[in-house]
Parts: sequence; structure tokens; C-alpha cells
Amino acid sequence: MTPIPILKQREKQIYEKGEAKDGRPFDMACDRHSLAGSVSQRACVFCGSRVVLYPIADALHLIHGPIGCAAYTWDIRGALSSGPQLHRMSFSTDLREQQVIFGGETRLYQALCDLIDAYRPAAAFVYSTCIVGIIGDDVEAVCRRVSREKGIDVLPVHSEGFRGTKKDGYRAACDALFKLVGTGDTAGIQPSSINILGEFNIAGEAWAIRDYYERMGVQVLSVMTGDSRVSEIRRAHGAALNVVQCSGAMTFLAERMTAEYGIPFIRASYFGIEDMAKALYDVAAYFRFDPTLQQRTETLVRDAVNGIMPELLRIKADLAGKRAAIYVGGAFKAFSLIKALRLLGMRVVLAGSQTGNSDDYQTLRDMCDPDTVILDDANPLELSKYVIEKGADLFIGGVKERPIAFKLGIGFCDHNHERKISLAGFEGMLHLAREIHTTVTSPVWRFAPFRSKQE
Ligand code: SF4
Repeated sequence: MTPIPILKQREKQIYEKGEAKDGRPFDMACDRHSLAGSVSQRACVFCGSRVVLYPIADALHLIHGPIGCAAYTWDIRGALSSGPQLHRMSFSTDLREQQVIFGGETRLYQALCDLIDAYRPAAAFVYSTCIVGIIGDDVEAVCRRVSREKGIDVLPVHSEGFRGTKKDGYRAACDALFKLVGTGDTAGIQPSSINILGEFNIAGEAWAIRDYYERMGVQVLSVMTGDSRVSEIRRAHGAALNVVQCSGAMTFLAERMTAEYGIPFIRASYFGIEDMAKALYDVAAYFRFDPTLQQRTETLVRDAVNGIMPELLRIKADLAGKRAAIYVGGAFKAFSLIKALRLLGMRVVLAGSQTGNSDDYQTLRDMCDPDTVILDDANPLELSKYVIEKGADLFIGGVKERPIAFKLGIGFCDHNHERKISLAGFEGMLHLAREIHTTVTSPVWRFAPFRSKQE
């Protein structure tokens, strides 16, 4: 096979643990715009904001831009709602040549009025896409006017795709959310109360996490944003503590809530046994004024782990020694996956993220085994190169990584927005193990053209 070279300008975004790069300390480049000419796996600013706000189920989500942007996010996130389904509609102003030349404000105004009249949403979000930033529509002014006329919050989300990285989209989403926080009544909130930030209820995961906390005796005021309602977000400032899961997505909001309302935050991950248990114990420790809460947490964790361990050990016997590649959105998810795969006896040979910062990559480097490749903002060629070179048996990623795995004839596990099986929590760890086991041990890979040529 012809070796695949690495683009010179991307060299500092790729690191192989153990290599001595000119004797320099580990210095991973990240948080920078994608390199022009190199196809990026990373989503744009608009997509970043859309996926964060998407699970607010009783809000209207209107994409101001050409229809192509809307297609990118139409129902790709499996964020489930226990009530309204308005979030699953992907509305777009469908800008054409005429609006690009003469402006799209009239179309936006009309679309907002028609949709609000038809659907009566609790609030509306208007996402600006690339072309809107270029033609200079005054989205703020249109939103203010409609808000005044219709009597609901119409919130502009400044998410022009070219403005930065997916992470800038998270920030734009948090700015919009922050306008809602603090506008509701906080009566009747108990002292041990939390908001869960960065849990998007993919395949119903927020329901399981919320259930754990409630069984411990903790009141969950809001999940931002997973099966969310506008009214819950409005009163979120009444919580005693914020628990932030997705490191990239919601830290901005947590920091603003600390500054404005004095609510501290802790970090958590709900993937894998170790991190899931830690997430519960950390909250119990914060509310130590209630010793019964600690006891209930211990019982919950013990029973849950005992319930899944026998099957996990059976699966581990088949997976021991297999190699995995991970390319996910946030680095925190990568940390949890490394621990979860180790529990199954597997070794991670590639770990990458779309939005990791330098501290995240330092942690990743410390966690990884020697020779592991660490990647920031990767592209299909680089991912393929290292999957082949490192002999991976499994790829864990999202919709854009799936074809890479299948073309190379290795197992694939969807750990992104499109997954249909819950992978968070203790039950989720069992689902993950079963899915990995099924795909890695499938006999089908013997017939994949690329794999059979290699053998
Ligand atoms: S906002 Fe821009 S980068 Fe994002 S999908 Fe639309 S056109 Fe593409």
C-alpha cells in the first residue's frame, strides 16, 4: 500500500505517544480553524449550536439559510422527548439567489410569524448560517420585532459556519440559553438540587441519569439540554449545583451561571462504570449535609455494578487483546471510552477529538498506552492511515467515521448523535459491551474486500 503523507501544517495536531519530536515537550496544536484544503471530520459552528439546542423539545428551531444547512441536522440527533416533538422538525428559510442578492430579512420575518402561529412554541431559536453572515441580514432586529409582536422569546443564535470551530457553536448556543436562565420562578426547590448540563438524551440516556440522581434523593431541576422544556431552563438558576458532562459544550454556560448566580459546577461523565459511579459519588459528597444520600448512592452503585458484571466478564473473554480507534466530538468522552475499553480487555491505539483543548490532550496523553496516536480535528485520510498502521479491530465514532470503518473492513460502534441504543450509565455500559462484541467478532469482516487483500 502507498504510504499516506501528513500535511505539513497539520503535523502539530498529530502525536504518537513515545515519539521524541525534536526533543520538545508534548505540545499538541488544537482550538484552531481547520486547514483549508484538508477535508475535516469536524462539524461547523452552526452544527455545534444546533446539536446543543436541538433537544429543547417545545421550542421552534428555525435555520436561516440555504436548505443544505438544514439537511445536515435534520433529525440526526436521536434526542428523545417525553412530550412535544417540535424539535424534530427542521424548519429552514430556504434562502435562494434572490434573497442572497436582495436580503433575507422579509423571508425570515414571514417564516417566523407563520411558524409561531401554526405551532405555538414556548420559545423560538433562529440559527444564522454562513450565507446570512455574508449578506449581513439583521437577524437580531427581526427576532426583536417578532418577539414583540408574538409575545414569546425569539432568540438569535450567531452560528455562521465559518466563524470558528464547532466549539464556537457551543458558545453561541450557551449565549442563547443564558438569556432564558433566570426568567422563571424558583419556588419549591429543595436544598439538594442540580442541573445536568451537556446530557442530550440520546436514546433516552438523560432519563436513566435523572433516575439515578432522583433515587439518591437529589432533585433534578433541568437537563440542558436533554428532553428539555423552556420553562425548566427559565428556573435553572434556583439549583444548588451544576453538573457538567460534555466538557466542550456547556462549560461556558456553567461558568456564566457561577459568575451571575453563584452556582458552583463539577464535571462528570456518564460513560463506563468507573466514571458513572464517580459522577454519582461526587454529587453525594457535595450534599454531605444529608448522610442518607451517601448511603443510598452506595447501594445504588453496588446493585447496578453487581447486575452487569457477570455478562461483562463473559464478553471480556472474547475481546481481550483487540485494538480500538476512537474519534469523537469531546475529549471527555474519549477519556471515559478508554477506561471502558480497558475494562473489556481492549487496547486503544488511536484517540482523537473535534473539540479538545490543550489540557484535554495532556490528560489523553497521560492516559494512553505507548504508541497510541492522538489526533486533533482529523480527516478521513489520516484516520484511515492510522487504523491500518495500528491494526485496529474496531472504530468508535459517528456518522462520518462509519464509512471509514466499513471500507477498511473493521467493526464499528456509533457513539455519536445518531445512536439508537443508550450507552450511558451502568446499563449503557452493558449495551456498549454487547455492541462492540457483536461487531468485532462478526465473521462478515473476512469477506470485506480491503481486509481480505491485507490478509
Ligand atoms: S453554516 Fe456554513 S459550514 Fe455550516 S452547513 Fe451551512 S454552509 Fe456549511
